[in-house]
Amino acid sequence: MTGTSGPQSAEDAGTTYSTFTGWIDRPTDLAAPLDAEISCDVAVVGGGLGGMSIALRLAEFGADVVVLDADFCGYGASSRNAGQLSGKPTGEPQLLAKVNPGLLRDLVRFAEGSVQFAEDMIKQLGIECEYEQVGNVGVAVTKGQLRKAQRDAQALIAAGAAERYGDQRELGLPDTFLGGVLTMVGGTMNPGMFTLGVRAALLRSGVRVFEQSPVQSVIETGAGAQVVTPLGRVRAKRVVLANNAHAPELGITPKHLSKPVWVSMIETAPVDADRIAATGWTSRSGLATKHNVMESYHVTPSNTIAVGVRRLEVGKNPLTDRTSSQAVVADLTSAFRARFPSLRDVPVTKTWGGWIAMTTTRLPVAGQASKSVYYTVGCNGHGLGQAPYLGSLLAEYLATDAIHHDLIPFWRSAPRFTRSLYLHNPVLRAAWVVDRLGDRRAGR
Ligand SMILES: Cc1cc2nc3c(=O)[nH]c(=O)nc-3n(C[C@H](O)[C@H](O)[C@H](O)COP(=O)(O)OP(=O)(O)OC[C@H]3O[C@@H](n4cnc5c(N)ncnc54)[C@H](O)[C@@H]3O)c2cc1C
Repeated sequence: MTGTSGPQSAEDAGTTYSTFTGWIDRPTDLAAPLDAEISCDVAVVGGGLGGMSIALRLAEFGADVVVLDADFCGYGASSRNAGQLSGKPTGEPQLLAKVNPGLLRDLVRFAEGSVQFAEDMIKQLGIECEYEQVGNVGVAVTKGQLRKAQRDAQALIAAGAAERYGDQRELGLPDTFLGGVLTMVGGTMNPGMFTLGVRAALLRSGVRVFEQSPVQSVIETGAGAQVVTPLGRVRAKRVVLANNAHAPELGITPKHLSKPVWVSMIETAPVDADRIAATGWTSRSGLATKHNVMESYHVTPSNTIAVGVRRLEVGKNPLTDRTSSQAVVADLTSAFRARFPSLRDVPVTKTWGGWIAMTTTRLPVAGQASKSVYYTVGCNGHGLGQAPYLGSLLAEYLATDAIHHDLIPFWRSAPRFTRSLYLHNPVLRAAWVVDRLGDRRAGR
């Protein structure tokens, strides 16, 4: 469960450890908690980008909607992520091209549609979030990764994706990278500003928003569902669970739907623009390495560099507020110093992290947990565009009964999921070790 108590940040050797995000401060205009018994057409549990988009889209159809968030809308992964809005689909493109080329085409269309959806939101809601349409590059650190990048690009282009393979110079990459695949659709942004912009739109819409209202249970009644919070209760015709990594905390959530995984970020002090250009990073595209567990790099308009992921840690529900561990922060810092040797003197000023919900298939899912209770979850590390797009597609389905073709690949007709074999800390640690051995062999 999220919470407002306890320190939000602590200092360690000049690095501020935050339990929230480095992109924005907490809003000060929190909506009041639910403290009554109310009714509505649809109650949405969780106000991340997913839940807020569901509510906004349903309100456009004239539905009476209530959103409940345990802390505030945007407290979760939505405002904490690496800010890379990418049109690259989830999964292994070469494998999918062989075993299910139709699904790969669907995933490409969904991923590019998600970017379009987020870009439309930014425009239509007038959100200032430092969005730059610079694309994102899957970058290779080793020759093996470079060959993989080339084959991935071929599979993706054949499936209709707007991708381009190139070497370090052609793609304007930092010179430690050998080359990679540029996903032309998308770019980078400040995800905290984007999420607060969507929250502001939600607060001025007709949707009733209750923050500081952790949902304790959702009960199917046959004629709707009841949502219970510490001080109130909502009787809704339908309920949508959009509580991401916290999904397993509610008894009504299908078993094995997802596992919570902690992802860490660090951010440097501002760097002189000429020094960044001198590394070769002239494109300023977002970067994600092609390791088993990627490293991500994002240069912001103020020339700080946000570095993310590299190590994933599986958690246990109920989740608590936390900071990233010193060991992971040190590891991310060493990655930054290895990839940008000429910037070794640049200090790391901030660190934070967030919980994502990972599914066994690594694909998002949406479906029905009971007659009146729906869920959407599992945009994994791609939810900046995909969570709001998937949410809006689910909202359209609830409002019209017609299922959009982009929702079909992710729709589960039965709430049955298998236990994940790879979402375990020893497996993820082994993946990290393999990545480091590969780096060492390549002298990087
Ligand atoms: C460090 C990090 C880096 C990432 N990088 C990227 C990236 O570069 N690009 C990308 O596309 N994606 C990235 N992601 C993933 C992306 O952020 C998520 O997939 C996306 O934000 C999920 O949105 P959401 O609305 O489903 O969940 P969230 O934003 O997590 O929202 C869930 C909400 O539910 C609320 N909640 C939880 N339990 C309850 C309850 N019981 N009652 C009421 N409310 C509850 C929470 O307070 C929260 O506000 C990253 C994630 C992290 C953490």
